Amino acid sequence: MSYDPDNIFAKILRGEIPSAQVYEDDDTLVFMDIMPRADGHCLVIPKTPCRNLLDASPEQLLAVMNTTQRMGHAVMAAFGAQGVTIQQFNEAAGGQEVFHLHFHVLPRHEGQRLRPPGNMEDSDVIAANADKIRAALAQV
Ligand code: 5GP
Repeated sequence: MSYDPDNIFAKILRGEIPSAQVYEDDDTLVFMDIMPRADGHCLVIPKTPCRNLLDASPEQLLAVMNTTQRMGHAVMAAFGAQGVTIQQFNEAAGGQEVFHLHFHVLPRHEGQRLRPPGNMEDSDVIAANADKIRAALAQV
């Protein structure tokens, strides 16, 4: 399977479609999921192309995992969470819908289930949650 440069996250990387970005470094970008399954649900992606875990280079994996760990701390602090769930899907049969490598970062609270997938969140709510994560990142 080859990389499609017109996937939605490639368009976000090129600035062709908007996203609520919370963190960026030389190798990775983090933005809010538009259909969050928990408040603070964000996505970590490499800035360079790869479909998923199966074709990622060691350098891409190192960069996204470092950023994923950083975001785990940040979302827990931002939402007073007791834990964090990291999800990552590979190919359609594995549950992947957008074919640019990404890690889901979901702050978790005791006894609270993830919301069902596929529900678009209000953009003001997403923006407010992005603000909370940015503020927490400044502290962690
Ligand atoms: P996966 O490929 O891991 O199954 O999930 C893709 C994720 O991308 C979903 O959680 C979905 O809500 C999110 N998503 C799909 N389209 C967009 C978009 O245009 N912008 C943002 N920020 N997230 C998106």
